[in-house]
Amino acid sequence: MAVFKKNIWMLYFLIVSITLILFTLLGYNKWDANREDFVDKQHLQVELFSTSVNSLLTSQEALLEVVGHQLVQQSDFTRTAALQIRPILDQLLDTHPAIAAFGLTNKEGNFIAVSSNLSLSTLPGLMERPHTRDSFIEALNSDKMILGRTYFHESLNSLIIPIRKAISLPGKGVQAVMTAGLQLNSTLVFNDNTHYGDYNELLLIRADHFRQFESSPIHSVARYNETVDANMYKVITAKVAEQHDISIEEIKLSNQSYSIATSDPQINAIVTAKYLRDYKLWVVGQTDLTYVDELFAKEFLVYFLVFILLHIGFYLLVNSIAKSEMVAKEQLVYQASHDPLTLLPNRQYMRNDIHHWLGNKTKPFSLLFIDIDNFKSVNDTHGHDFGDKVLKQISKRLINIHTSECLIVRESSDEFILLTPRNHEQDVKALAQRIIDDLAVPYEVNDSQFLLGCSIGISMFPEHGNDLDSLLRAADISMYKAKKQQNSFSIFTSEMQETHLYKMKVEQRLRLAVENKSLFMVFQPQVNADGSTYGVEALVRWIDEELGFIPPDVFIPIAENTGLMNRLGTFIIESSIQQIARLHQSEQIKFGLSINISVRQFMNKRFSEHLISTLERYQFNPDLLTLEITENLFIEDLSHVKPICESLHEKGIRISLDDFGTGYSSLSMLKALPINELKIDKSFIENIHCDQQSLTMVQNIIAIGKNFGMIVLAEGVESNQHFDVLKECKCDLMQGYYFSRPISSEELAVHLNQQETKYAEFSI
Ligand code: C2E
Ligand code: CA
Ligand code: CA
Repeated sequence: MAVFKKNIWMLYFLIVSITLILFTLLGYNKWDANREDFVDKQHLQVELFSTSVNSLLTSQEALLEVVGHQLVQQSDFTRTAALQIRPILDQLLDTHPAIAAFGLTNKEGNFIAVSSNLSLSTLPGLMERPHTRDSFIEALNSDKMILGRTYFHESLNSLIIPIRKAISLPGKGVQAVMTAGLQLNSTLVFNDNTHYGDYNELLLIRADHFRQFESSPIHSVARYNETVDANMYKVITAKVAEQHDISIEEIKLSNQSYSIATSDPQINAIVTAKYLRDYKLWVVGQTDLTYVDELFAKEFLVYFLVFILLHIGFYLLVNSIAKSEMVAKEQLVYQASHDPLTLLPNRQYMRNDIHHWLGNKTKPFSLLFIDIDNFKSVNDTHGHDFGDKVLKQISKRLINIHTSECLIVRESSDEFILLTPRNHEQDVKALAQRIIDDLAVPYEVNDSQFLLGCSIGISMFPEHGNDLDSLLRAADISMYKAKKQQNSFSIFTSEMQETHLYKMKVEQRLRLAVENKSLFMVFQPQVNADGSTYGVEALVRWIDEELGFIPPDVFIPIAENTGLMNRLGTFIIESSIQQIARLHQSEQIKFGLSINISVRQFMNKRFSEHLISTLERYQFNPDLLTLEITENLFIEDLSHVKPICESLHEKGIRISLDDFGTGYSSLSMLKALPINELKIDKSFIENIHCDQQSLTMVQNIIAIGKNFGMIVLAEGVESNQHFDVLKECKCDLMQGYYFSRPISSEELAVHLNQQETKYAEFSI
């Protein structure tokens, strides 16, 4: 059934085939029944005709017999006898209108007496003419009435059948022959209505193959002088015998009618034959098969037309269903392969279509991976409906740029892919620049105007890959570089590939490192303005057996992008808290611990839960813990970040905003979130002693921090000069190589013993 559902035409053809077969069977049955009707009709016709003929002839024979005997017994056959007999014969004529004339002959065939409508003197003897001689002789030798050949009597305008009966007296043999003329037009038996129409006829055929009677009026009387076609006679008798599996002799003896339908070229008719034994006559009914079949064809034509009409209707119905199914299918295919928002082809479409591009290596092409910069912030700030409108505008602009040979695809929310046959570097660069320029034109949505940029990573076929995945990967790698600059493009190079491979290697080794815990923590002291130790920042370290030392700047982003950050973060939190908790106990001093938390960790649902349980496990006072987060966190959904920060804050954990001044944070955000500490990025400290701009910047940040009631920490303090300037600026805390490099917990124990620690001063 599923197959038929798939293809309605199969079902259609099956139904058509079945109905065609049924219709053919019905047609055949009708055709057969029609012939059968005619056979039955003709059978009846022949039976009735045979009975009528037989009874007519039998009655005539009885008449001849009775009259003949009477005459023979009374007469001496003298000349006067003729005169005596004539009135008797005339009287008989009056009472028997079917008889045209009566005559009585002697054994030699000479007439002794005739009815008065004949002239005895002119009438030739029956032995004198061949056609009368045969029947006369036959009559002499038979005790049955014999029929002579039918002839046409002009003055009577009728066909006449001579009938003769030898009259014998017991012990004396044949005395005379009684003869008469049966006038066919005077008897109902032989009238023209014995046949049904032109297509049907009744025949009486004699043993000598001459017609005794033929019902069809269209045939001339001349036919009575001809025998029936011997061939036809043979064919009929042979076919009847063959189809009924009976011999001719058996048919003759059976006194039954036999019917056949034959399309023999000579006959082509329904033939019914019966043999009248007493008078040696074949009664044959014939109905023209062409007529019979034409009649069937006429009747059946109506059925046929209805059948054809129904089928045309059925075809139209199926066709319309198939068409609407096709439309629905096309719609589904379209929906599955197009992005509903921008109506651009989607990733699936590209995957299906890519073989057109890859098929011919002699036709290079370029793949442009277009990523809208900071699109997330549009959605976050204005909502998704607004974002959708912007995306529609972006796609329209891209459509305006692309030519018929290009394929433009919406890869995911704010990522588009453009495939272009352009492959010369200059052309592709020009195209990329045009895209950047066009997308940089201000957008206007809901009466607000704003700007967006995009980054484009470009890969080329076949240099950068032989399949879609490798081309996408290459474009993605080059996109990474473009993203760093924003609003720019970058074409894939082999160096990028190397960097990429290196990153892959790092990722692979990092996985092992996380598993094997071959990572470790170091701690960098954070000091008060008076030089006493305030706390430490935990920094992760990794020395790989194969790759050697890898800075966290390198592997942290890799861990973030490969889903390793949560496991790595768990390790960092657990090991830092465990080691510092141990120092708290062993050294009996309280100092703060700052842990860097990546955005990825922060977004994990179980982050807080895990942090709190770790603190509890190591009995670490939450008041001593600071989480360093970067401003990147605020690019994420603020409604998600805020409650987490607040709940942590409520538990006494502090939040420090790391790398302050390098990101996107706005002052309103500082107010919205429970931030305890601002950490000035080391890039601002570097030249603080010699560059007025850096100094002003640092002074401003410190002022902002104080305004919001936050502690301000400066990192990257490398010299006494830095320290002095920062003290003067009233910076609360400092961290840098000037005080200590990041050190192991054992080294930290020694370091703490040499320093004074003052944590409580800033506790809130
Ligand atoms: P960050 O959080 O800004 O960390 C401070 C970085 O400055 C550390 O580099 C530290 O060694 C370095 N530093 C300290 N004093 C000075 C100085 O006087 N001069 C200079 N030039 N540098 C100084 P590190 O350890 O290589 O870390 C680099 C970055 O890696 C960190 O920047 C942080 O973003 C990330 N990172 C390091 N450890 C972790 C960690 O455990 N978790 C997370 N999420 N990120 C970490
Ligand atoms: Ca930090
Ligand atoms: Ca920093």
